[in-house]
Amino acid sequence: MITANVFDIKRFSINDGDGIRTTIFIKTCPLRCKWCQNPEGLIPEIRLWYAKNLCVACKSCIAACEFGALDWDALGVRIDHDACTRCGACVTACPTGAIRFDARQMSVEETLLEIEKDRPFYGTDGGVTLSGGECMASPAFSLAVLRECRARGINAQIETSLYARPEVADAFCEATDRIITDIKLIDPARHRAATGVDNAPILENIRRLAKKGAALLIRVPLIPGFTDDGENIDGIAKFVASLGRRDIPVELLNFNPMCREKYESLRQEYPFDPDQREIPEDTVRALKEILTGYGLTAL
Ligand code: SF4
Ligand code: SF4
Repeated sequence: MITANVFDIKRFSINDGDGIRTTIFIKTCPLRCKWCQNPEGLIPEIRLWYAKNLCVACKSCIAACEFGALDWDALGVRIDHDACTRCGACVTACPTGAIRFDARQMSVEETLLEIEKDRPFYGTDGGVTLSGGECMASPAFSLAVLRECRARGINAQIETSLYARPEVADAFCEATDRIITDIKLIDPARHRAATGVDNAPILENIRRLAKKGAALLIRVPLIPGFTDDGENIDGIAKFVASLGRRDIPVELLNFNPMCREKYESLRQEYPFDPDQREIPEDTVRALKEILTGYGLTAL
């Protein structure tokens, strides 16, 4: 049976492709962006997740664990992931849902059942978007879901880094109605430093898919101090203009400070000033003008 570890299913999404969509978030990602908004999606395995804001400090979870995997300190429940056997006793014991597994293993068939529940809301434009993590890192599952969606007349799109072998990217291109992909940084050294991988395979995939006529939307996450400078946006604009496809829009996605709680849950250092807010509108407008200056559509 083909399965994947799904860490979220977002229903009625209006920001993950055309129309109203169901977005399926699949675990594991080859990139390690310093600003990752979904750090729970980076590793492939299912792990325990602790949400301090839901915790009432009853410590029932600690009492329920036979394996000594849970402890209490100033930040609340501390999880020893090496000692945890994923038996689920603490999840059952928790009265508030503060401790839970961060994903569930789903088959293609189970995923399609979830999708079918939302079908009445899709209208003519909406449908399903596979996201992550990185959906191309689970190709058997993702392609099976995408192909079955289309066979059932459901619009199928993906959000991807396009950090994948060319043959994998091509297979996804055949199976989808739109590919939403990021260009985070155009300078190779800056890209490597910020994400841990080279951007050459990403740019090459974009070039090849653009040549094939794929329906593409390019997104640039505006991350303060990482990607939000004019030099980066100018380089990206030059690259997209060189594709010779004026029907490929570029969307600037403003920084979202909401992910701070996730870093706290994971007990990982939050990579920004706690007071860091969205990038001001006039700065975003100026960056959009760089894109439109190259004849591109800026969203
Ligand atoms: S899942 Fe089981 S082993 Fe892991 S912390 Fe909870 S009770 Fe302990
Ligand atoms: S059982 Fe739930 S609410 Fe109680 S301490 Fe554990 S995580 Fe918090």
